[in-house]
Amino acid sequence: MTTIFRGRRGKLAADLEGAGWDALVVSHLPNVLYLTGFSGSSGMVVTGSSGTTLFTDGRYAVQARELEGGCRVRIVRGALLDGVAAHLQAIGARRVAFEASHLTVSQNAALKKRTGSKAVRKWGATTGVVEKLRARKDAVEITKIRAAAAVACKALALVLPMVKPGVREVEVAAEIEYLMRRNGAAGPSFETIVASGPRTALPHARPTSRKLRRNELVVLDLGAILDHYCSDLTRTVYLGKPPRRLAEWHRAVGEAHQAAVAALRPGVTGAQVDLAARETLRKHRLDRLFVHSCGHGLGLEIHEEPRLARNIETPLEAGNVVTIEPGVYLEGTGGIRIEDDYLVTDRGSERLTRTCSDIFQH
Ligand code: ZN
Ligand code: ZN
Repeated sequence: MTTIFRGRRGKLAADLEGAGWDALVVSHLPNVLYLTGFSGSSGMVVTGSSGTTLFTDGRYAVQARELEGGCRVRIVRGALLDGVAAHLQAIGARRVAFEASHLTVSQNAALKKRTGSKAVRKWGATTGVVEKLRARKDAVEITKIRAAAAVACKALALVLPMVKPGVREVEVAAEIEYLMRRNGAAGPSFETIVASGPRTALPHARPTSRKLRRNELVVLDLGAILDHYCSDLTRTVYLGKPPRRLAEWHRAVGEAHQAAVAALRPGVTGAQVDLAARETLRKHRLDRLFVHSCGHGLGLEIHEEPRLARNIETPLEAGNVVTIEPGVYLEGTGGIRIEDDYLVTDRGSERLTRTCSDIFQH
């Protein structure tokens, strides 16, 4: 494992040097985990030309010393930023970047004040430096995401018999999370969505005490975290024989999903994949009801790079792991979404969530 973390830090060091930075202050915990293997809730990293140092507090002393990541560890009493500032002075870093999206305004002010203008001459607000590396998964990460996907799939298959009229949304959600944990998950990768009837029109509905009813839609959106890696899966079912209009909607969303998958390969942009789904729904005159983007990357976080959305012009690469999740939503009627996770391969893509594909009529 040590070599994996060293390899990641080596790539990052080259990027930082190319951009003219002596060091990067990493304060986003998933990035700390990615670079060092440290998974505690209090940690910062300074990495760059003079190596990598992890800063944490006394609660994590044992965990930090057992790290296989091969980086230096400093246990800080008091604010981590004080330790970081003293370290930046000690290594004589002149040009220092920080993560603009993950350092608060007051933390940023404190870091600059405590480091002092004599030590650091130039501060740089960077975004997505580590996230860019994280977007391309290595073999170990792919294995972990596969396992997280398998657990979500298993939980969905096991919960389906319970998805029946009279059962409450919260009961189904609780059962899904229980099943994921029973099958090895550390927990859900986000708050499980179980929405029924008109509530399916809310793409991010929270489960309520509403009972499922016959002749209604139910959206189940779930994911597991396993070994720090996430999965994300959505199926929509209809309790009974679906009316023609909803059957057509479901078919159209499935077609849009397949069109996006057909477009998914290295070199294609997130915007192009999104457009493939949107154009398909337009043919069915449903594009107006597709109110979110086509998908997102997933890994250590449930939403990460690369995004599959309008205006995303970065080309996809082999090793990206993304969701494809087109949906249509109409207030008063309901919503339908079909979501799976895909690994971008050299030639196209591979589906990681292989389960329960054809369960609309339930
Ligand atoms: Zn989802
Ligand atoms: Zn998703």
